[in-house]
Amino acid sequence: MIVVVVVAGFSVVVSQTKPATGRPAPVRNRAIANIVREIDARNIEATIRKLVSFGTRNTLSEQNDPKRGIGAARDWLYAEFLKAAAASNGRMTVEKQSYEQAKAARVPQPTMVTNVVATLKGSQPEATDRIYVVSGHYDSMCNTPVDAKCDAPGANDDASGTAAVLEMARVMAKYEFDATIVFMAVAGEEQSLLGSTHFAEQAKEKNWNIDAMFTNDIVGNTLGGNGVRDRGTVRVFSEGVPSNEKPAEATTRRSVGGENDSPSRQLARFIKETSEAFVPQMKVMMVYRRDRYGRGGDHIPFLERGYPAVRFTEVNEEFRHQHQNVRVENGVQFGDLPEFVDFAYVANVARVNAASLAALAWAPSRPKGVTILSQRLSNDTELKWDANREPELAGYEIVWRDTTAAVWTNSKPVGNVTSFTMKGMSKDNYFFGVRAIDKDGNRSPVSYPKPLTRAQPAAANPSL
Ligand SMILES: [Zn+2]
Repeated sequence: MIVVVVVAGFSVVVSQTKPATGRPAPVRNRAIANIVREIDARNIEATIRKLVSFGTRNTLSEQNDPKRGIGAARDWLYAEFLKAAAASNGRMTVEKQSYEQAKAARVPQPTMVTNVVATLKGSQPEATDRIYVVSGHYDSMCNTPVDAKCDAPGANDDASGTAAVLEMARVMAKYEFDATIVFMAVAGEEQSLLGSTHFAEQAKEKNWNIDAMFTNDIVGNTLGGNGVRDRGTVRVFSEGVPSNEKPAEATTRRSVGGENDSPSRQLARFIKETSEAFVPQMKVMMVYRRDRYGRGGDHIPFLERGYPAVRFTEVNEEFRHQHQNVRVENGVQFGDLPEFVDFAYVANVARVNAASLAALAWAPSRPKGVTILSQRLSNDTELKWDANREPELAGYEIVWRDTTAAVWTNSKPVGNVTSFTMKGMSKDNYFFGVRAIDKDGNRSPVSYPKPLTRAQPAAANPSL
């Protein structure tokens, strides 16, 4: 379909683009370019400074003081997301999602944990229940997560991610997407991912179709403790073997591979391709692991429940500015202060996120039920999948790469069909995938096929 968006009083008709052949490249969707352009580093700076001004945002800190503590930050964020929602024509709603966390390792007494959740409802009936979640955590800590009194400015960890999410909500609320996007600021991250776990658990109980989740955590420092300054790269962490892999899936993976083709890894590739098209000043550094050594993030509760998810983080971290009491020691400034945040860089990370979310929410869903006919010994590769439901679907592309390649290197449009045979290309020699394309050229992430095991013919001997 043609997407018409109204921005600042004039409408933009997104041009139709022919599907690419050869090396895959996302379409130049003009609305996505507009979103990228509208993200403003000055708003991000103002948000980070405001969040720092609450003194501490430790989850155990004051909930009812209007000036200091996590409660003041929560109420301010709620009001800001409401302002963003005012531009959405009623499509964005904002809520405080609260629950009482019982005593736990980093929670000395029962504590209310509140996520601020802004939901921008998708407009296409076939896609509105498909949900993309983007989050940052607004809680902070100093040396220890149970010190509720110390100053914990948390400018980088994670006012940076929270500010990126709020800016995306401001810009994207004006646009109408097919699928639903949830912009979220969570609490309790430093207390062991409490807020994100609560949200993911609720989603699982309600059987929500969360098709992707991004967490932005520590996305603002561009001068590492190693002395390296890098203002043009962001890391995207994705797991290879799914956290919720079942034993039968592990058996298949050991047999024919797939440890580099989880839905989260396909998501990372999608982000990289989208970013190259729309945010060329930024390089996406895919990291093939769930998270850094000894660290975790709000994507993990989603992964554990079977939702594809990735983590965005700066490339070179400065540990003197994370989880530290604010102090000067031997002439060295410790503490997570705003003077160490590169606001223009945070804006670029927000642009990578926003372009990817917009591309996902305007694209058809990933093809479902994708299988590769595995029993027949053949030098052809036979793929099958279920038909997509979206009315503006144009068709599908087969993508492939060498088994040692990091990203999809080739694609072939195959039309609006639900099976295709790659003649003369052996499934033993390449990895294949399938993605959906709509009439505007918006492409879904790639679905990696499962082997289709048919009843074994009596005479066959597959082991030789
Ligand atoms: Zn963090």
